[in-house]
Amino acid sequence: MRLDGAASWKCLRIVSLTGTWSAWLMVVVVLGGCGAEPHAEVDTGPRVASADHHMHIQSAEAALNLDRAREAVEPPPEGETLDPSPTFGAADAIAALDAAGLEGGVLLSNAYMFAMPDVEVTDELAKVLAENDYVAEQAALFPERLVGLCSVNPLADYALDEIERCGQDSRLTGLKLHLANSDVDLRNDEHVEVLAEVFRRLGELRMPVLIHMRTRNPEYGPVDVNIFIERVLSQAPELPIQIAHMAGWGGYDAATDAALAAFVEAFDQGTLARERFSFGLGAVVFQPEAADNDQRAERVRQSNQNLASRLRELGLDLVVYATDWPAWPPGSEPRTAIERNLELIRSALPLSEEELERVLANVGVLFDGR
Ligand SMILES: [Zn+2]
Repeated sequence: MRLDGAASWKCLRIVSLTGTWSAWLMVVVVLGGCGAEPHAEVDTGPRVASADHHMHIQSAEAALNLDRAREAVEPPPEGETLDPSPTFGAADAIAALDAAGLEGGVLLSNAYMFAMPDVEVTDELAKVLAENDYVAEQAALFPERLVGLCSVNPLADYALDEIERCGQDSRLTGLKLHLANSDVDLRNDEHVEVLAEVFRRLGELRMPVLIHMRTRNPEYGPVDVNIFIERVLSQAPELPIQIAHMAGWGGYDAATDAALAAFVEAFDQGTLARERFSFGLGAVVFQPEAADNDQRAERVRQSNQNLASRLRELGLDLVVYATDWPAWPPGSEPRTAIERNLELIRSALPLSEEELERVLANVGVLFDGR
């Protein structure tokens, strides 16, 4: 599938959050109990963003699993229980895209969460397969607008078999990998070898990847990016790759900035081919006004400024609009979350209007098909 990037939009607003590897879990807490609303009318208006390049859907089983993971990672205070996470399907994603006037969406499977080391899961493999099938079915409901990615914990013993199986499913375009959630450490030789094997196979299958690269290792930074480039990406030199969260995990701290700078350097030196990369803006821009004191607000402003400078160095043509829907911005109704995020980026990311329009119109490498 290929998107032309013509779209329209309407209204909008704010947000904030703290960046940790479990950020996605935390922000989902805010959404517990929210259901999908009826389909929105699409406004006509100025062209804004063409696609949301990072959206999660989940079956009932995955929603239950997410709740178990939330309890394991961020236990609720004594005596309190968490609101159950809702299911999300393609119709919910389309309603949110329509409300923001966007044309396309990248739907991600949460199957890797069944293999998260923090949760005990019975019949793990069966659940992983069923979740990836769910995403394939959902993406196929809107084949002109949605791209579906299966997912797997790359360290699981069934990982290559499941990648193979997804690769044969014409309803799926590629693979989502989440290194922190899967507890992959790029400083661990065995992990790097497994990941290299996965990428070698993905290259053979011509299966594009969206990867959340930041690991749980507290030292994460340029060293990890360079290991990834030299030992993993080198195994599939032509594979289209979308790097999630600007090589971080939400928010834009010094470690993420240094990691992104390592990519800039690799492009400048010609180690990597720019054409096969997209970098997603999901959950990296915070609203300074949402900080609880002036000092923090100033730090957020500085982070947004650093991000804008680094994006220019990277090249704005590689930057794609992404949210991490439905978990971002926190507190948003799923149907309006994408348009609220547009407003957040417009108000807080210090790019010129022209630069921003260019970014929002970009269609990423995952839409090139395979
Ligand atoms: Zn995500």
